[in-house]
Amino acid sequence: MDLKKIAAWLSDNGHPEFRLQQITDAVYKKGSASFEEITALPEPLRNAIKYKFRILAIEPETILESKAGDAVKGSFWLKDKHKVESVLLNLFPGKWSICVSTQVGCPVQCVFCATGRRGLKRNLSPDEIISQHLFWANYLKKHRPGEKIGGVIYMGMGEPFLNYESVAESLRIMTDPDLIGLGDRHISVSTVGHVPGIRRFAKDFPQINLAVSLHAVENELRSKLVPLNDKYPLDQISKALKDYIYATKRKVFIEYVMLGGVNDSQSSARRLSEWLKGVASPKYFTVNIIPYNATAYDFKAPTKERVAAFSNLLLTLNISSTVRKSLGADIIGACGQLADK
Ligand code: SAH
Ligand code: SF4
Repeated sequence: MDLKKIAAWLSDNGHPEFRLQQITDAVYKKGSASFEEITALPEPLRNAIKYKFRILAIEPETILESKAGDAVKGSFWLKDKHKVESVLLNLFPGKWSICVSTQVGCPVQCVFCATGRRGLKRNLSPDEIISQHLFWANYLKKHRPGEKIGGVIYMGMGEPFLNYESVAESLRIMTDPDLIGLGDRHISVSTVGHVPGIRRFAKDFPQINLAVSLHAVENELRSKLVPLNDKYPLDQISKALKDYIYATKRKVFIEYVMLGGVNDSQSSARRLSEWLKGVASPKYFTVNIIPYNATAYDFKAPTKERVAAFSNLLLTLNISSTVRKSLGADIIGACGQLADK
């Protein structure tokens, strides 16, 4: 929604200034996703403005709810007929989070990720990123009245730091108390390890959570999994994280996609722990183990026993670790399964 253009139109057409505030509140605070829903506006204004402007920059194509009711995946059309996906997740009872996309496709092409399979189509605009939030807020209003979005994770399609400007603008809208108004600590941005992005993010958004997708701590293996590792290898990531922690005093979340027989051994866990301790004190890290979700690639999910043994060993080595619940696998809405099909 382009507030500047709406403000200009309202004033050109002789509407009082407070109408803009009513629209802003209805959209950002109350989950209205169409002008018809904003009943605070007089009917003639609603009828006129709906032909001039749109609140959402995305249009839902299909909305799929998981059987357990804990995840809802949306596929959305963009204006140029590209498609993007976004997920609403119920991580704790009554507490909803959304997983937003930042690009159509992804240029990084990690070998296990469905999003990267066909490369980058284009970056999303701030409006298209924010519209994912506005859509889900409206969805909750209609389907789970009274329940709200409490967190946003930038972990859908795309590499956020390869679309830095738009992501930064969307973060400002998410956290602006006059707009969406989420607390910084309720937002997380996940990067594949884009070093200049991590450095910029430390300066611009020191209170927003940073997650880094590591997956391996040997360059040879990591480069096979994450091609961008050739450009920003592990020692550069290590330095960037060291500086990040020194500057922000914030914890870093380490994402670790666990691939059966590839990076799920006890010695992998030991090496990961050593690597992290070389960066900073273990109290600065939480490792999120994400058991591989099936995509069209030839990897295997790790066995439950291997996941548990890896996680337990990290804990013994003083590194806090959690295993990501795979919500929404039945609707292909789990991490890495989002694609622009
Ligand atoms: N590009 C960013 C954010 C989007 S990917 C990044 O890579 O961090 C979000 C998370 O999903 C990443 O941690 C990624 O490694 C993980 N992921 C990708 N494919 C996956 C798969 N098939 N199974 C499980 N997790 C996957
Ligand atoms: Fe891109 Fe992240 Fe998928 Fe890698 S894991 S291809 S960086 S979206």
